[in-house]
Amino acid sequence: MSNIQIEDRHIFYMKKALETAVKYTQHGEVPVGAIIVKDDEIISFGTNHRENEKNCLCHAEIEAINNACKKLGGWRLWQCTMYVTLEPCPMCAGAIINARIPKVIFGAYDKKNGSCGSVTNLFELPYNHKPEVLGGVLQEECAALLKVFFKKLRKGEIKQFGTHHE
Ligand SMILES: [Zn+2]
Repeated sequence: MSNIQIEDRHIFYMKKALETAVKYTQHGEVPVGAIIVKDDEIISFGTNHRENEKNCLCHAEIEAINNACKKLGGWRLWQCTMYVTLEPCPMCAGAIINARIPKVIFGAYDKKNGSCGSVTNLFELPYNHKPEVLGGVLQEECAALLKVFFKKLRKGEIKQFGTHHE
């Protein structure tokens, strides 16, 4: 467990992001859940749909941003906080910057693709918007969900039809 004092609010919403990943991830998809919170209210959800949509753009964060923009009727999400179970990739970190989201809380670190501290931290670079980021909230629970998925995938218990496996 991390020694960082994590606010109860962050844990509460990360549990909601985890629930989103568990409940709404379709078969064959890497389970990632994202939610967007505004004024202490969840205004949108997203999960990963890459396999079913056969499209690399269909990450949980992108879906959550898309839904939030539709709901709020604008592209600037400057009053919102994103909670996501996995560290955002460069595409999603870029979308977060473009959406002007001021704060991102993530669960598991992604050593191979994470762009909010692992591979790089796009939020530290001198873009026109620098979101605040906190990683490792419910890290073990978020990582466990992915671990179980990849174990099943390796055993062939889960099939992905959008990719080719040896
Ligand atoms: Zn992404």
